[in-house]
Amino acid sequence: MSDGLVLATRNPGKIIELRDLLTSYTVVGLESYPDAPDVPETELTFAGNALLKARAIAEHTGLPAVSDDSGLCVDALNGMPGVLSARWSGRFGGEHPGGRDRANLELVLDQLSDVPDAERGAHFVCAAAVVHPDGREHVVEGRMDGRIIREPRGTGGFGYDPIFELAELGRTTAELTAEEKTRVSHRGRAFRALAAYLDGLGG
Ligand code: IMP
Repeated sequence: MSDGLVLATRNPGKIIELRDLLTSYTVVGLESYPDAPDVPETELTFAGNALLKARAIAEHTGLPAVSDDSGLCVDALNGMPGVLSARWSGRFGGEHPGGRDRANLELVLDQLSDVPDAERGAHFVCAAAVVHPDGREHVVEGRMDGRIIREPRGTGGFGYDPIFELAELGRTTAELTAEEKTRVSHRGRAFRALAAYLDGLGG
């Protein structure tokens, strides 16, 4: 079987990751649909945002659409930045010499400067949704637990990776190879669960 499926992203890394997991589908990204709508992430939950984007792309393309939404939830910040992770530093991000990811990460470090080591727990969440053109929809979540360190470490990954340490490895997710990270990450877990669901549908 080689059914088509569109992943609601222009990020080539995510497309490769999903293609590797969904071998029974032909996965294309939004680069094949230049007129696809840009869907603002207005929901208060990761699952809500993932579904919002997948619904819009399924409607636009007439194909089953997969979308994900993810973010960092910090215990000492009551679960924030959460769905605001990408824009946590607000308008100041664009003016930071290290770019928006760096501004976001430094803001979290500043906000946690007085928080003791024992209270620096955090986790990443990824919700992955599939919406079929006939209206069927399914959403799964993956999670990765760790803690926020005090100084960034590592050059891999993106976003908050340099300040997020995995207890069991003693390394930040910016110190993992892409393969190592996918094995344990929220996104890897969510995409694997979604792939299992889609394989079940096709079987
Ligand atoms: P989105 O899922 O593309 O909306 O990304 C949400 C934001 O969460 C990103 O811009 C990052 O700031 C953060 N984020 C999500 N996943 C990761 C990750 O694996 N590492 C580091 N930051 C992440």
